[in-house]
Amino acid sequence: MATSHPIPGRAGQALDQRLNQVREGCTSCGACTRDCAFLQKYGTPKRLAETYDRSDPETVRRSFECSLCGLCETQCPEGLELDAFFLEMRRDAVERGEGIFPEHRPLVTYERLGTSPRFTLYRLPQGCRTVFFPGCSLAGTRPDGVRNIFAALQKAEPTAGIVFDCCMKPSHMLGRERQVDTMFSELRQWLIEAGVREVLVACPNCQAMFAAFGAGLKVKTVWEALDAAGFEPTPTHGVVTVHDPCVVRNFPATHQAVRNLLRRQGVAIEEMAHSGTRTVCCGKGGAVDMLNPELAASWGELRKEEAAGRWVVTYCAGCVQGLGRYTSTDHLVDLLFAPEQTLAGRKKGAAAPFTYVNRLLLKRSFKRKEGFAVTKERNPQPGQPARGPWKPILAALLLIAAVAAVQLSGGTQYLQQERLQALIGSYGALAPAAYVLLYALAPVLFLPGLPITIVGGIVFGPVWGVVYTIVGATAGASLAFLVARYVARDWVAAKLTGPRWDKLDREVAQHGWKVVAFTRLIPAFPFNLLNYAFGLTSVSFLQYLVATFVCMLPACIAYIVFSSSLLGLISGKVSPTALVGIVLIALVSLLPVAYRKIKGRTAVEAGQE
Ligand code: SF4
Ligand code: SF4
Repeated sequence: MATSHPIPGRAGQALDQRLNQVREGCTSCGACTRDCAFLQKYGTPKRLAETYDRSDPETVRRSFECSLCGLCETQCPEGLELDAFFLEMRRDAVERGEGIFPEHRPLVTYERLGTSPRFTLYRLPQGCRTVFFPGCSLAGTRPDGVRNIFAALQKAEPTAGIVFDCCMKPSHMLGRERQVDTMFSELRQWLIEAGVREVLVACPNCQAMFAAFGAGLKVKTVWEALDAAGFEPTPTHGVVTVHDPCVVRNFPATHQAVRNLLRRQGVAIEEMAHSGTRTVCCGKGGAVDMLNPELAASWGELRKEEAAGRWVVTYCAGCVQGLGRYTSTDHLVDLLFAPEQTLAGRKKGAAAPFTYVNRLLLKRSFKRKEGFAVTKERNPQPGQPARGPWKPILAALLLIAAVAAVQLSGGTQYLQQERLQALIGSYGALAPAAYVLLYALAPVLFLPGLPITIVGGIVFGPVWGVVYTIVGATAGASLAFLVARYVARDWVAAKLTGPRWDKLDREVAQHGWKVVAFTRLIPAFPFNLLNYAFGLTSVSFLQYLVATFVCMLPACIAYIVFSSSLLGLISGKVSPTALVGIVLIALVSLLPVAYRKIKGRTAVEAGQE
């Protein structure tokens, strides 16, 4: 696996510096090894630096066994930056293509889904300057907690928005800096451009990420915000001990706010030997539990020993899961908002795969809420499904259900296409004219085009259906374009803000009509919005018109051919037209997948050069 690289990259150079600092600065006093199972196993940082060998796979793997908890750094009398030293080892390994372990794959997938259009949602009210960023794990394990926190925040800050996205902590701790740079920068830039100045986080990992990479954004925990707003939790009583997550050991204001809220609730606190800035890892830090579960367990056991049977409360969903294996542990949000259920042991967070379902439902409920001026999802990344396979599967299931229902109820007599077409034909030119008009108005009014297309295929058949549909769709796309360019330019420009639309503008300035052609073939943007967006760009109307007409044709033909045989299919007849339609739809649907694969490969190749 490993080969020695004589010319290190950026991370390699940074690591060389760190290695020299530790070799020269560490006196092997042993202060940091006392509380750390990792250092007890492998020796002092000086020894680790002196024996570090890039060509040895075991040495590379070793750097992924440090939990990156940062405790050693707080104990070092020489002031060595040990956290950065261990992280740089990971970055160097990844840069050389050697820090990729199959054990980490679930975490990488988790993050990739978290940043996909399906799971992300940005909702900002007019004048929004503060957003709540719940993070992936709280939203997945405790969606009701997210709702409760947001409702409480809104009382103090009525223009608060909400952002469901991933903070990229998994990539950060796995040393995948390029991924962090790309994805976090996009998130940060969009928030700043949208006027957001403050991010309220509920997850310690998100706090650490925004503090490190969120320049231009003030980051604070929701606990600090609620404490400052005088939030009154549901009263209760009892004695707890607080586990401060190691990733926020250097955020004393967070530690204090959590304790203030608990005391205000009527709960007494007894501290463990390690707390606040000297806290220890729960066992899940640095994803060590995926590579060396025994080592991770030793941190969990230490916490159990220190808790000594006391009830542990923490404010990280990952720590609840990690520590919960060793000692009774609850999340702060459960205790603040539902103390009775929590005390009765009935408030346990959800586990995968239900966490994903919770996040989708939570997103849907916030998407439906009124009072937000801006709604946005992330763009798909290379290799990421824009929408996932759910819709085609659902459509296929609905079709099967419809066929079964019609067959069982004997309703086939009412689905005779010839009769329907004869009826429409009796209206003469009025029927196609009405259809084209409806299609032309649909994009302007943000009506979905697919149901109209299906009707067109059924009513007008595969040939005239295509003619009327492409004419109507092109007219509709043109109308929206002209409205944006000549009638309501400022209004449309105010709605279409953010890096995604800026990028479209730049691309059109550079590549002209080709961008129109491309986006018609690869639906990376919502069709109805795109028509308006092109009206704001520099592309000429004629070029837009021709590219739209020509490049929408393949999808139009596929859907109309298929729809023209739909009634037959529902009646149980599989005609050659239906089979051709299915093949055409499959081919058209594969275009974006093929594009993303090529783009992903090109990106990787570019990265390797
Ligand atoms: S960061 Fe934590 S796990 Fe890593 S060496 Fe330091 S104390 Fe040990
Ligand atoms: S505490 Fe500092 S000086 Fe002492 S062994 Fe650890 S790294 Fe070296």
